[in-house]
Amino acid sequence: AKDATAEMLARIEQDNVKFLRLQFSDIFGMPKNVAIPVSQAEKALTDGIGFDGSSIEGFVRIEESDMLLKPDFDTYTLLPWRSHETAVARFICDVHKANTQPFEGDPRYVLRRALDDAAKDGFVFNTGPELEFFLFKMVDGKPTTLFQDVGGYFDLAPSDLAENVRRDIILALEAMDFEIEASHHEVAESQHEIDFKYSDALKTADNVITFKFAVKSLALMAGLHATFMPKPIYGINGSGMHVNCSLSKDGKNAFFDPNGKLQLSETAYYFIGGLVKHARAITRVANPTINSYKRLVPGYEAPCYISWSASNRSAQIRVPAPRGNSTRVEFRSPDPSCNPYLAFAAMLAAGMDGVRNKIEPPASTDKNIFHMTAAERQEAGIETLPGNLYEANEAMLADDVVCNALGKHVVDALTCSAEIEWDSFRTAVHPWELERYLATY
Ligand code: GLU
Ligand code: MG
Ligand code: MG
Repeated sequence: AKDATAEMLARIEQDNVKFLRLQFSDIFGMPKNVAIPVSQAEKALTDGIGFDGSSIEGFVRIEESDMLLKPDFDTYTLLPWRSHETAVARFICDVHKANTQPFEGDPRYVLRRALDDAAKDGFVFNTGPELEFFLFKMVDGKPTTLFQDVGGYFDLAPSDLAENVRRDIILALEAMDFEIEASHHEVAESQHEIDFKYSDALKTADNVITFKFAVKSLALMAGLHATFMPKPIYGINGSGMHVNCSLSKDGKNAFFDPNGKLQLSETAYYFIGGLVKHARAITRVANPTINSYKRLVPGYEAPCYISWSASNRSAQIRVPAPRGNSTRVEFRSPDPSCNPYLAFAAMLAAGMDGVRNKIEPPASTDKNIFHMTAAERQEAGIETLPGNLYEANEAMLADDVVCNALGKHVVDALTCSAEIEWDSFRTAVHPWELERYLATY
């Protein structure tokens, strides 16, 4: 460890770093950080840096608030959009309690625990997310919902006005060692997608946080507001965060079996079985905002029925065509407002429950589910995702596998926040109600 610290310090000096940002996430997946001048680097890398956890959402009570940030050396990177003369680097940190035990409320720890559990059976969990977002105009320094462009799917300039911003975002991400696979204008006006390469789920979750932060920062530099809000505008597509999932074992893709049905292994089928079984509970963390449920409605390429298919994009779970090492299951319900650590932990725990308990998935649904009647769906045993945050939280509480994966601390904090959020929403009087009733009654 001494050598690693010395090496890290040398690198920091070589990069001419003047400030270090020690970053972590609260329970909502909001990045938080404390900046330290480089003079404090040695102390931070050796002992960690103390902070008061009581002011962080979902962390701790005031009586036990002394916490420690322990930088994860693997996450060191410069923030390329900051000036290079006074370079700024960041570490993503693990959060420890003052007694140096990992803190149960640290989302990163929740995911580490789920990954360690799967590792007992020799599995590595890989995830590749597809984040969509909108670029809106800023007016007087404030975000609006005014479109930057009116382009559509795969459009080019002049319909697509975001070519330059997307390029700047991609160059910055590449400077931070992201491997960008594709980027394009999405279906809705001013909506975009940038895809980066899959990794093990911990690295991917770190990447999701970094990605959102980079997109927002670069958009702002172009005078735009980037939002990962799931459904900013009624009547057009919302933004999803489809997650491509696979397990690997001994360096091989464990979902691929050249002799299996559809060339999928039993492990793949059981993993799907687990995802289907726990889909309602996973929704609490994959779709954590009130607004998330405005996206999960028919008609906008987002799922609302629990189902899987080898091809059909109306299903919640799809198996994309590539096989061999690229064999994967695409989980289409998550949205980019989720905390990726918690969402991946819940998905993995669900999938592993399927694998360990040999949960057979239901028959695949190969027709467009949105064209089926309620009776046909019932006949086919297709259940519905929770319709709102309150229902999703209840589904989580009723699911031992997902609760165990998240841990009591996180489940309690999520429940408390869902209650507050739901009460605030359900008692508010929305513009829709005024439009509908004010003149009539
Ligand atoms: N925007 C859609 C969603 O909300 C997904 C579109 C796509 O298939 O890329 O999930
Ligand atoms: Mg897309
Ligand atoms: Mg997709």
